[in-house]
Amino acid sequence: MIDNFRHKGMRKRLVEQLAEKGISDQRVLEAIMNVPRHFFLDNAFAKQAYSDTAFQIGAGQTISQPYTVAFQTQLLEVEKGDKILEIGTGSGYQASILCEMGAKLYSIERQRELFLKAKNLINELGYSPKLKYGDGFEGWEAFAPFDKMIITCGAPYIPEKLVEQLNNGGKMVVPLGAGPVQEMILLTKSKNGEVSQRSYGKFRFVPMLKDTEK
Ligand code: SAH
Repeated sequence: MIDNFRHKGMRKRLVEQLAEKGISDQRVLEAIMNVPRHFFLDNAFAKQAYSDTAFQIGAGQTISQPYTVAFQTQLLEVEKGDKILEIGTGSGYQASILCEMGAKLYSIERQRELFLKAKNLINELGYSPKLKYGDGFEGWEAFAPFDKMIITCGAPYIPEKLVEQLNNGGKMVVPLGAGPVQEMILLTKSKNGEVSQRSYGKFRFVPMLKDTEK
């Protein structure tokens, strides 16, 4: 896979567009500048990789629009060394952004084909998150608690187990809603474990589904 000056130029323009649309966390913009998004799409779509749109990644799933990735990542206020759980590895792009920002990342995907593909690609890029083929509704008990969580599929409700596995003082970003449109929720857990929520507008994700699929 090649990342040349043309790709870097397109990435720079994408970063400028995201900044214009209101993404102000420099670390998020830097990570988007550093991760070659075209690696996550089929070759035929290399150019479109740097337009601010979502794309099919196979198995009926999509890689989120760059603005959505940037928006969710910005809400998480990622710090180096944060232990983060992602639900919905998908293409592995969001996971790579979080790794690039220095997170200790754990990510779960329910579709085997996507899990395998993302694993290869993420490792090829030199990141080493822990990846799991499984159902995100269950969280990842063995490595809990997590400082932060990011759900990248539309959750019909906030999974109880995820809230339990979130550290006191932690935050979770979750697109909430059973229909085609979800409300972006930032859930925070106070130092003494009290949960509160704030809404950040409407987004569209593929649905969060139960169990795993071959
Ligand atoms: N973060 C991804 C976005 C992928 S789209 C990226 O950067 O490309 C959402 C993904 O969530 C899909 O791959 C879908 O298979 C997965 N998903 C849906 N329900 C899930 C669940 N219960 N557990 C884990 N993954 C799930």
